Amino acid sequence: MEQKKQKEQIAQKTQIAQKTLMQQYYQNLGISPQVYRFCQNIWESLSERFRKIDAVSEANQLKVLKALQENQVSEACMLGTTGYGYNDLGRDTLEKVYAGIFHTEDALVRPQITCGTHALALALMSNLRPGDELLSPVGKPYDTLEEVIGIRPSKGSLAEYGITYAQVDLLPDGGFDYEGIRRAINGRTRLVTIQRSKGYATRPTLSVERIGELIAFIKEIKPDVLCMVDNCYGEFVETIEPTDAGADMAVGSLIKNPGGGLAPIGGYIVGKKECVENAAFRLTSPGLGKEVGASLGILSAFYEGLFLAPNVTASALKGAIFAANVFERLGFAVMPNGSEERYDIIQAVSFGKPEGLIAFCEGIQAASPVDSHVRPEPWDMPGYDAKVIMAAGAFVSGSSIELSADGPLKEPYAAYFQGGITWQHAKFGIMRSLQSLVDKGIVLSDVLEL
Ligand SMILES: *Cc1c(COP(=O)(O)O)cnc(C)c1O
Repeated sequence: MEQKKQKEQIAQKTQIAQKTLMQQYYQNLGISPQVYRFCQNIWESLSERFRKIDAVSEANQLKVLKALQENQVSEACMLGTTGYGYNDLGRDTLEKVYAGIFHTEDALVRPQITCGTHALALALMSNLRPGDELLSPVGKPYDTLEEVIGIRPSKGSLAEYGITYAQVDLLPDGGFDYEGIRRAINGRTRLVTIQRSKGYATRPTLSVERIGELIAFIKEIKPDVLCMVDNCYGEFVETIEPTDAGADMAVGSLIKNPGGGLAPIGGYIVGKKECVENAAFRLTSPGLGKEVGASLGILSAFYEGLFLAPNVTASALKGAIFAANVFERLGFAVMPNGSEERYDIIQAVSFGKPEGLIAFCEGIQAASPVDSHVRPEPWDMPGYDAKVIMAAGAFVSGSSIELSADGPLKEPYAAYFQGGITWQHAKFGIMRSLQSLVDKGIVLSDVLEL
């Protein structure tokens, strides 16, 4: 009895010592005891939620592993080719692995696809022909696609090639405007583009289930129309992907979720054999298609990044939920809110004034493993009508699966926050940004004691 009591006392003391030690580690990186305690309490309240995220990541980890094993990924796959890149085993096998994960007939996964916008442009331009019409039934697509489509005139846009564009906005409650969509589909409608993530818009992100409902509705009206999903930021957030819900193509960037933080460049298109073949012929050349395209030395980062991607996505997701709960508790408008289901890794926090947005971004920058000593400043970015502030201290330049934040300096002064290749770093980044708001007197430290 006496011994048991003694054991308990020692355990208790060890626990207190560990907590104090942890607080000390945070303090060494500039986090005050108040911010630490406030955030620690919020973190403790999220354990149930985090368990569910871990379960999704576990299922996705097994899905990725199965695809790697089934396609007999070998040591030789990690090597690269040069020149034309004929018979590049690693490249061809990686594409089979992607097709296995997304349950599609084929895949194009290449470092020659320079970014997400390029991958989307490629999928559109190669699968549409002059006279065809492209339809977006979920409102305005991502900013950079405006020039691809020709909504904003640009050299080489779809519009220049005689491909027209129609758009049906979501209803005010975020629902699909089924009647509007039915009216918009005509004899020339060839391809429907559906953006999963909200991007910088203020609509909700679409779940795979809802995307599936929309595709089923469209296919019933016109079975031969191609349905493409812009899958950016959505990969591995759920256990199914849009291609499991009827999409003919899903498209994304490797410096977001599926690159796992390791891919230094690249994009992917997964889908029907014919769609992918069209894209390959456009990427390289008619007749050459997937046969060329040397992988140089890059493939081990693609493979290992993909292997890590379910866990990395889970880390980013936890960071987004943690941020939502921290800033919601402090009275800021957050989207999605602290308890909503998640279908992408983006978190928006509105500060209502420029100082708040700037302080938040400064905190994220200061928390970075790279360039933590620099201070981000708002600047006039091409294509934006207000100054934009960006915080990123990433190993891969511009990578937004790594901890990063940005926002335009205009009402409602919202920061868009995403990424964190480890949960621990995402957590620290949020704490550091809160500290930055406290240090500037934007958040009063006695509020943290509540
Ligand atoms: C990031 C993103 C893109 C474009 O990707 P880039 O790699 O920045 O060119 C397109 N659509 C959505 C929804 C995105 O989040």
